[in-house]
This record gives sequence, C-alpha cells and structure tokens, in this order.
Amino acid sequence: MDKAYQIVEPIPVYSAIGNHEAIPVNSFSPSAKEIDRDDLTNDWLYQSLAHRWAQWIPEEYSDDFKRRGNYVVKVRPGFRIIQYNSNFCARTNPWILYDSVDPGDILQFLVRELTKAEQEGDKVHLVGHIAPDHKECTQAWLHNFIRIIERYQHTVKAQFYGHDHRDEFRLYYSLTDPTVPIGYAFICPALTPYSQTNPGYRIYQMDNQGIIIDYETHYFNLTEDQFSNQINWKSAYRASELFETDQITPIALDRFLKRLEKDDQLFADYYRYFYVMTDDESGRNWDESVKKAIISSHIVKLPMRTAPIPLAN
Ligand SMILES: [Zn+2]
Repeated sequence: MDKAYQIVEPIPVYSAIGNHEAIPVNSFSPSAKEIDRDDLTNDWLYQSLAHRWAQWIPEEYSDDFKRRGNYVVKVRPGFRIIQYNSNFCARTNPWILYDSVDPGDILQFLVRELTKAEQEGDKVHLVGHIAPDHKECTQAWLHNFIRIIERYQHTVKAQFYGHDHRDEFRLYYSLTDPTVPIGYAFICPALTPYSQTNPGYRIYQMDNQGIIIDYETHYFNLTEDQFSNQINWKSAYRASELFETDQITPIALDRFLKRLEKDDQLFADYYRYFYVMTDDESGRNWDESVKKAIISSHIVKLPMRTAPIPLAN
C-alpha cells in the first residue's frame, strides 16, 4: 500500500476502513473505556492506520481516528469531507447486540460534525465503507441514520462507499413523506473482481457547491486482458447520459429508478454496468424477479416497516 500511496502523491487520499480489516472480521466494538477490555477493541488497527495515513488525517481528529476510525477534512473553503466508520452499523457486527442503538457513537459523531458544518456554511460529502441500507445495517441504526440525512439534507450533497464491489447506488427517502428523495449514496465498483465483476474505478466531477455533476466508470475486461499481459482500461458509461441529467440530485436518481422499472432495455444496460461489464453469465441473465430485487435494493425508505434484504442477495 505504501507504494500505491507514493504513486498517487501529491493527490490527497481520504481512506475509509473496510469491514475485513477487523479481527475477527466485521467486529467493531465500542471503545475500550466503554467495554473495559483493551483486547477486544480494534485500537491496534486504528493506531496502525493513524500512523500510515498521518499525512491525510488532520491533527485535531487524530484522537477520534485512533478511537473509532473517524475524521473530517476541510478540503477547501465551503466544503469538507466527513469520513466515518460505517462498519459499526452492520448486522454482521456482533457488537450490535451489546449496543443496538449507536455502537461506537457513530451517529452521535455525524450529528456533531454536520451541525458544525451547517453552522459554518460548509457543504459535505460523507465517505465510508458500507453504504447504510436495508441489506447491511440494523433497521434501528438505519432509521436514525435517515433521520440525520433528512435533517441535514441541504448540507450533505453526496455519499460515497465501496464494500459491494458492484456498481450501484442507494436513494434515501424522507421518513415523514416516503415519496420524497432526500439523499443518495454511490457504491463504486472495486479493483478486486469479487464477485463476478471486472475490476473498475470511477472519476467524479463536482461543482463548487459539492453537487456531483457527472462521473465516468472505467473497467478492464478480465477475459480479454488476462492472457495479453496488458491492461486496457475502457469507459463503461457516463452518469450524465445514463441518468439524463447535468446535476446528479436525489430527484434525478428517483426519476431514473422510475424509468428503470418501465424500460427493460434501460435495465439490461444498467445490469451490465451493475456487474462492471463482466463476461460472466451472472452479469447477463436476469428476469423480472432479479430486476425487482435490484431496483428495490436501491430504495432505502421506512426502516422498521420494510423487511431487511437477506445478506446473500
Ligand atoms: Zn467490505
């Protein structure tokens, strides 16, 4: 990783901690102070990464990062990135049984930081590993997360996650009026071709208000490139063309999901992007039930009243 960081220098990196970094995997405990057991925490991980990522983590967030993996960077006047450890929310995190409301006080951290950003007039991008949704997070945690996104919808302009390794997004709807979209999270494809995908990455473009105006997803074809010893990066698609918009807002994505429901050809294209243009059969064959399952996994509304999505899907 050190070599990779050297290659991208001087471009700043805003890293997030993945669920597989923990030992045991997925296990993110509250602080040692709270559980009174040093040996059960991930302090070793946070401290090691705090050292590796020292150049990108502002000094005033060093303690927060070493305790639970969160930090905030004021990128430029009027805009900041809040990176938070979303692994705490996961149904696979055993510590959710110990504290089912807010393990690691992550939601509390988000409220504190978003209040600060709002008071100072800054727009925010949230960055994390697991995108909060009906599949990954507990419904109680998700409910409170959506309350926060709804309250700060004019501050949080976009969210960015990984974890799924596929190309998708989540659209959050108001708790008071579930027809109104209030925020979104992009899930970018991974360089790791797991599962059934090609390696991919994405470049976003935003305006000076933090609104995403476009992005382009790039991939290379594993079947074609694995024997040639040469990586041939290609463009999969541009968001402005797919979503038919020059500003990617919650309303634009809501419109897109409605088009997706009605237009099978559009869904066939989206399904190819979803699996990062894979040649694998899984990325080509779909039926009405697959289409329904994929579209509904993008919609995050009314937790507690919506059945969680099984993790295997
Ligand atoms: Zn992951």
